[in-house]
Amino acid sequence: MKRDNTRKPWCIYLSFMECGINLLCRDSSWLIGGVVKQPHVDKVEGGFGTASAIFLKALFSGPNDLRNGISLQTPDGPLMLFIDFGRVLADTAGLKYIFDCTGASGHKPCMHCRNVVNCHGGLDIPDDGAFVDHACHEPSRFATHSKRTMRKLLVDVAAGPRSRAEQTLVTRRLGFKHNPHGVLFCAELQNVVTTFDARYDFAHTILTNGTAGLEVSLLVDAYRAAGIVDATGIVAAFAGWHWPTGLQKKQKIEEFNDMFFIQGSDVLSVYPVLRHLLTSQFPSADEVRLEKLYYLAMCRFLDEYSLVQRGWGHTFASRHRH
Ligand SMILES: [Zn+2]
Repeated sequence: MKRDNTRKPWCIYLSFMECGINLLCRDSSWLIGGVVKQPHVDKVEGGFGTASAIFLKALFSGPNDLRNGISLQTPDGPLMLFIDFGRVLADTAGLKYIFDCTGASGHKPCMHCRNVVNCHGGLDIPDDGAFVDHACHEPSRFATHSKRTMRKLLVDVAAGPRSRAEQTLVTRRLGFKHNPHGVLFCAELQNVVTTFDARYDFAHTILTNGTAGLEVSLLVDAYRAAGIVDATGIVAAFAGWHWPTGLQKKQKIEEFNDMFFIQGSDVLSVYPVLRHLLTSQFPSADEVRLEKLYYLAMCRFLDEYSLVQRGWGHTFASRHRH
Protein backbone atom coordinates (compact mmCIF):
# COMPACT_ATOMS: atom_id res chain seq x y z
CA MET A 1 0.00 0.00 0.00
CA LYS A 2 1.52 3.27 -1.10
CA ARG A 3 1.31 6.10 1.40
CA ASP A 4 -1.49 8.34 0.27
CA ASN A 5 -3.06 10.90 2.59
CA THR A 6 -6.26 11.11 0.57
CA ARG A 7 -7.07 7.56 1.67
CA LYS A 8 -6.70 8.41 5.35
CA PRO A 9 -9.92 7.41 7.09
CA TRP A 10 -11.37 8.92 10.25
CA CYS A 11 -13.14 6.28 12.32
CA ILE A 12 -15.69 6.71 15.07
CA TYR A 13 -16.50 3.79 17.34
CA LEU A 14 -19.19 3.45 19.96
CA SER A 15 -19.35 1.26 23.01
CA PHE A 16 -21.07 1.05 26.37
CA MET A 17 -19.29 1.86 29.60
CA GLU A 18 -21.36 -0.90 31.27
CA CYS A 19 -19.32 -3.47 29.27
CA GLY A 20 -16.50 -3.02 31.78
CA ILE A 21 -12.77 -2.74 31.14
CA ASN A 22 -12.20 -6.33 30.02
CA LEU A 23 -14.45 -5.84 27.02
CA LEU A 24 -13.86 -2.12 26.43
CA CYS A 25 -10.10 -2.56 25.96
CA ARG A 26 -10.69 -4.84 22.95
CA ASP A 27 -11.68 -3.23 19.67
CA SER A 28 -13.79 -6.28 18.81
CA SER A 29 -16.36 -4.97 21.28
CA TRP A 30 -16.64 -1.52 19.69
CA LEU A 31 -19.50 -0.76 17.29
CA ILE A 32 -18.46 1.08 14.16
CA GLY A 33 -20.23 4.45 14.31
CA GLY A 34 -18.86 5.74 11.05
CA VAL A 35 -15.87 6.00 8.74
CA VAL A 36 -15.17 9.09 6.67
CA LYS A 37 -12.27 9.65 4.30
CA GLN A 38 -9.99 12.68 4.44
CA PRO A 39 -11.18 14.32 1.16
CA HIS A 40 -14.75 14.33 2.50
CA VAL A 41 -13.64 15.80 5.84
CA ASP A 42 -11.78 18.51 3.90
CA LYS A 43 -14.99 19.57 2.17
CA VAL A 44 -16.77 20.27 5.47
CA GLU A 45 -16.50 23.78 6.90
CA GLY A 46 -14.76 23.27 10.24
CA GLY A 47 -13.36 19.85 9.25
CA PHE A 48 -13.60 16.89 11.59
CA GLY A 49 -14.82 19.10 14.47
CA THR A 50 -17.96 19.82 12.47
CA ALA A 51 -18.27 16.20 11.32
CA SER A 52 -18.07 15.06 14.98
CA ALA A 53 -20.79 17.53 15.97
CA ILE A 54 -23.08 16.34 13.15
CA PHE A 55 -22.54 12.75 14.25
CA LEU A 56 -23.24 13.50 17.94
CA LYS A 57 -26.30 15.60 17.05
CA ALA A 58 -27.73 12.64 15.13
CA LEU A 59 -27.52 10.59 18.33
CA PHE A 60 -28.28 13.12 21.06
CA SER A 61 -30.63 15.79 19.72
CA GLY A 62 -33.97 16.15 17.98
CA PRO A 63 -36.71 13.53 17.79
CA ASN A 64 -34.22 10.61 17.74
CA ASP A 65 -32.37 11.66 20.89
CA LEU A 66 -31.21 8.36 22.41
CA ARG A 67 -31.58 9.83 25.91
CA ASN A 68 -35.36 9.73 25.41
CA GLY A 69 -35.22 6.01 24.77
CA ILE A 70 -35.48 3.63 21.83
CA SER A 71 -37.65 0.55 21.78
CA LEU A 72 -36.03 -2.77 20.89
CA GLN A 73 -37.77 -6.03 20.05
CA THR A 74 -36.28 -8.90 22.04
CA PRO A 75 -37.36 -12.58 22.33
CA ASP A 76 -38.77 -11.65 25.76
CA GLY A 77 -40.86 -8.81 24.39
CA PRO A 78 -40.24 -5.12 23.70
CA LEU A 79 -37.55 -3.32 25.69
CA MET A 80 -37.07 0.41 26.16
CA LEU A 81 -33.38 1.37 26.11
CA PHE A 82 -32.18 4.78 27.36
CA ILE A 83 -28.68 5.78 26.29
CA ASP A 84 -26.75 8.68 27.84
CA PHE A 85 -23.63 10.17 26.42
CA GLY A 86 -20.60 9.01 28.45
CA ARG A 87 -17.09 9.89 27.31
CA VAL A 88 -15.06 10.78 24.26
CA LEU A 89 -11.96 8.61 24.18
CA ALA A 90 -9.29 9.47 21.63
CA ASP A 91 -5.57 10.01 21.25
CA THR A 92 -4.18 13.55 21.46
CA ALA A 93 -4.73 14.22 17.76
CA GLY A 94 -8.28 12.87 17.92
CA LEU A 95 -9.24 15.09 20.85
CA LYS A 96 -7.65 18.08 19.13
CA TYR A 97 -9.88 17.73 16.07
CA ILE A 98 -13.05 16.68 17.88
CA PHE A 99 -12.90 19.63 20.30
CA ASP A 100 -11.28 22.20 17.98
CA CYS A 101 -8.44 22.85 20.39
CA THR A 102 -4.85 23.63 19.43
CA GLY A 103 -3.60 20.29 20.75
CA ALA A 104 -0.29 19.02 22.08
CA SER A 105 1.88 21.27 19.92
CA GLY A 106 -0.07 24.44 20.76
CA HIS A 107 0.82 27.01 23.39
CA LYS A 108 -2.03 25.73 25.57
CA PRO A 109 -1.50 21.99 25.10
CA CYS A 110 -4.02 20.78 27.71
CA MET A 111 -7.73 21.50 27.46
CA HIS A 112 -8.28 20.64 31.13
CA CYS A 113 -5.75 23.07 32.62
CA ARG A 114 -5.97 26.87 32.74
CA ASN A 115 -2.31 27.63 33.40
CA VAL A 116 -0.30 24.94 31.60
CA VAL A 117 1.62 26.29 28.63
CA ASN A 118 4.23 25.12 26.17
CA CYS A 119 6.93 27.79 26.50
CA HIS A 120 8.83 26.65 23.39
CA GLY A 121 7.57 28.51 20.39
CA GLY A 122 7.91 32.12 21.44
CA LEU A 123 4.71 32.90 23.34
CA ASP A 124 5.38 35.87 25.59
CA ILE A 125 4.53 34.64 29.09
CA PRO A 126 4.95 36.70 32.28
CA ASP A 127 7.44 35.02 34.59
CA ASP A 128 5.34 35.58 37.72
CA GLY A 129 4.44 31.97 38.50
CA ALA A 130 0.95 32.24 37.01
CA PHE A 131 1.84 29.81 34.23
CA VAL A 132 3.37 26.35 34.46
CA ASP A 133 5.42 24.70 31.74
CA HIS A 134 3.84 21.56 30.32
CA ALA A 135 6.90 19.51 31.30
CA CYS A 136 6.32 20.31 35.02
CA HIS A 137 6.10 17.16 37.15
CA GLU A 138 4.24 18.74 40.08
CA PRO A 139 0.50 18.29 39.49
CA SER A 140 -0.42 20.50 42.47
CA ARG A 141 0.71 23.48 40.38
CA PHE A 142 -1.82 22.78 37.62
CA ALA A 143 -4.96 24.90 37.83
CA THR A 144 -7.77 22.93 36.27
CA HIS A 145 -10.85 24.38 34.65
CA SER A 146 -14.18 24.46 36.41
CA LYS A 147 -17.41 24.41 34.42
CA ARG A 148 -17.63 28.18 35.01
CA THR A 149 -14.10 29.04 33.81
CA MET A 150 -14.52 26.80 30.77
CA ARG A 151 -17.83 28.49 29.87
CA LYS A 152 -16.18 31.89 30.17
CA LEU A 153 -13.24 30.77 28.03
CA LEU A 154 -15.55 29.55 25.26
CA VAL A 155 -17.49 32.84 25.36
CA ASP A 156 -14.15 34.67 24.94
CA VAL A 157 -13.15 32.41 22.03
CA ALA A 158 -16.47 33.08 20.28
CA ALA A 159 -16.61 36.83 20.97
CA GLY A 160 -16.29 39.05 17.93
CA PRO A 161 -16.18 40.48 15.41
CA ARG A 162 -12.44 40.01 15.05
CA SER A 163 -10.02 40.21 12.19
CA ARG A 164 -8.37 36.99 11.06
CA ALA A 165 -5.12 37.96 12.79
CA GLU A 166 -6.91 38.80 16.04
CA GLN A 167 -8.77 35.49 15.95
CA THR A 168 -5.52 33.59 15.37
CA LEU A 169 -4.00 35.29 18.41
CA VAL A 170 -7.04 34.43 20.55
CA THR A 171 -6.82 30.80 19.40
CA ARG A 172 -3.14 30.66 20.36
CA ARG A 173 -3.65 32.25 23.76
CA LEU A 174 -6.80 30.39 24.78
CA GLY A 175 -6.08 27.06 23.09
CA PHE A 176 -9.41 26.71 21.27
CA LYS A 177 -10.56 27.60 17.76
CA HIS A 178 -13.91 29.15 17.17
CA ASN A 179 -15.84 26.64 15.08
CA PRO A 180 -19.52 27.71 15.24
CA HIS A 181 -20.51 24.28 13.87
CA GLY A 182 -18.21 22.38 16.24
CA VAL A 183 -18.97 20.22 19.28
CA LEU A 184 -18.32 22.98 21.83
CA PHE A 185 -20.21 25.78 20.07
CA CYS A 186 -23.31 24.29 18.47
CA ALA A 187 -26.40 24.92 20.59
CA GLU A 188 -27.81 21.37 20.44
CA LEU A 189 -24.75 19.87 22.12
CA GLN A 190 -24.28 22.48 24.88
CA ASN A 191 -25.70 20.23 27.59
CA VAL A 192 -24.52 16.96 26.07
CA VAL A 193 -20.76 17.05 25.44
CA THR A 194 -18.17 19.15 27.28
CA THR A 195 -14.39 19.11 27.48
CA PHE A 196 -14.80 17.38 30.86
CA ASP A 197 -15.98 14.28 28.99
CA ALA A 198 -12.72 14.04 27.02
CA ARG A 199 -10.29 11.25 27.90
CA TYR A 200 -6.88 10.49 26.45
CA ASP A 201 -6.39 7.01 25.08
CA PHE A 202 -4.10 5.52 27.75
CA ALA A 203 -2.39 2.92 25.57
CA HIS A 204 -1.43 5.33 22.82
CA THR A 205 -0.80 8.55 24.71
CA ILE A 206 0.76 7.39 27.95
CA LEU A 207 2.03 3.84 27.47
CA THR A 208 3.50 3.72 23.97
CA ASN A 209 4.05 7.39 23.24
CA GLY A 210 5.09 8.40 26.75
CA THR A 211 6.40 5.72 29.09
CA ALA A 212 7.74 3.31 26.46
CA GLY A 213 9.43 6.09 24.48
CA LEU A 214 11.01 7.45 27.66
CA GLU A 215 12.29 4.03 28.77
CA VAL A 216 13.84 3.46 25.34
CA SER A 217 15.68 6.78 25.42
CA LEU A 218 16.91 6.28 29.03
CA LEU A 219 18.14 2.83 28.06
CA VAL A 220 19.92 3.95 24.92
CA ASP A 221 21.53 6.87 26.80
CA ALA A 222 22.84 4.54 29.51
CA TYR A 223 24.32 2.09 27.02
CA ARG A 224 26.00 4.93 25.16
CA ALA A 225 27.39 6.44 28.38
CA ALA A 226 28.76 3.03 29.42
CA GLY A 227 30.52 2.75 26.07
CA ILE A 228 28.73 -0.50 25.19
CA VAL A 229 26.78 0.55 22.13
CA ASP A 230 25.74 3.90 20.72
CA ALA A 231 22.84 4.93 18.55
CA THR A 232 24.67 4.10 15.34
CA GLY A 233 25.44 0.60 16.63
CA ILE A 234 21.79 0.07 17.51
CA VAL A 235 20.65 1.27 14.10
CA ALA A 236 23.16 -1.12 12.50
CA ALA A 237 21.83 -4.02 14.61
CA PHE A 238 18.28 -3.08 13.64
CA ALA A 239 19.26 -3.21 9.98
CA GLY A 240 19.80 -6.97 10.34
CA TRP A 241 16.03 -7.34 10.72
CA HIS A 242 13.36 -7.25 8.10
CA TRP A 243 11.01 -4.34 8.81
CA PRO A 244 7.65 -3.35 7.39
CA THR A 245 8.13 -0.70 4.70
CA GLY A 246 6.90 2.17 6.87
CA LEU A 247 9.47 1.44 9.58
CA GLN A 248 12.31 0.74 7.17
CA LYS A 249 12.21 4.27 5.90
CA LYS A 250 14.86 6.65 7.10
CA GLN A 251 12.64 8.87 9.21
CA LYS A 252 11.63 6.09 11.57
CA ILE A 253 14.38 3.90 12.94
CA GLU A 254 17.24 6.19 12.02
CA GLU A 255 15.75 8.82 14.26
CA PHE A 256 17.63 6.75 16.83
CA ASN A 257 20.67 8.61 15.57
CA ASP A 258 19.89 11.90 17.17
CA MET A 259 16.92 11.99 19.49
CA PHE A 260 15.90 8.37 20.12
CA PHE A 261 12.31 9.20 19.54
CA ILE A 262 9.96 6.58 18.18
CA GLN A 263 6.54 7.58 16.95
CA GLY A 264 3.63 6.31 19.06
CA SER A 265 2.63 2.87 17.89
CA ASP A 266 5.99 2.16 16.20
CA VAL A 267 7.28 1.39 19.69
CA LEU A 268 5.18 -1.76 19.52
CA SER A 269 7.25 -3.07 16.59
CA VAL A 270 10.57 -1.88 17.99
CA TYR A 271 10.49 -2.94 21.66
CA PRO A 272 10.71 -6.74 21.25
CA VAL A 273 13.66 -6.43 18.85
CA LEU A 274 15.48 -4.08 21.21
CA ARG A 275 14.81 -6.56 24.04
CA HIS A 276 16.22 -9.37 21.93
CA LEU A 277 19.36 -7.34 21.19
CA LEU A 278 19.77 -6.49 24.90
CA THR A 279 19.48 -10.07 26.06
CA SER A 280 21.40 -11.80 23.28
CA GLN A 281 23.75 -9.39 21.54
CA PHE A 282 24.78 -6.37 23.60
CA PRO A 283 27.01 -7.10 26.60
CA SER A 284 25.65 -6.02 29.96
CA ALA A 285 27.39 -3.97 32.64
CA ASP A 286 26.81 -2.66 36.13
CA GLU A 287 26.29 0.89 34.86
CA VAL A 288 23.27 -0.13 32.79
CA ARG A 289 21.78 -2.64 35.24
CA LEU A 290 18.88 -0.46 36.39
CA GLU A 291 17.99 0.89 32.95
CA LYS A 292 17.97 -2.64 31.54
CA LEU A 293 15.89 -3.93 34.45
CA TYR A 294 13.26 -1.19 34.02
CA TYR A 295 13.23 -1.58 30.26
CA LEU A 296 12.59 -5.32 30.54
CA ALA A 297 9.84 -4.68 33.12
CA MET A 298 8.22 -2.22 30.71
CA CYS A 299 8.46 -4.85 27.94
CA ARG A 300 6.65 -7.38 30.12
CA PHE A 301 3.92 -4.83 30.72
CA LEU A 302 3.52 -4.23 26.97
CA ASP A 303 3.49 -8.02 26.38
CA GLU A 304 0.74 -8.55 28.93
CA TYR A 305 -1.21 -5.56 27.72
CA SER A 306 -1.30 -6.93 24.19
CA LEU A 307 -2.46 -10.30 25.57
CA VAL A 308 -5.36 -8.56 27.31
CA GLN A 309 -6.26 -6.82 24.05
CA ARG A 310 -6.32 -10.18 22.28
CA GLY A 311 -8.72 -11.55 24.88
CA TRP A 312 -6.11 -13.56 26.78
CA GLY A 313 -6.35 -11.39 29.89
CA HIS A 314 -7.15 -14.46 32.04
CA THR A 315 -3.61 -15.78 31.52
CA PHE A 316 -2.32 -12.45 32.84
CA ALA A 317 -4.67 -12.53 35.84
CA SER A 318 -3.90 -16.16 36.79
CA ARG A 319 -0.16 -15.60 36.53
CA HIS A 320 -0.26 -12.59 38.82
CA ARG A 321 -2.76 -13.83 41.41
CA HIS A 322 -0.09 -14.83 43.95
ZN1 LIG B 1 -3.65 19.46 32.00
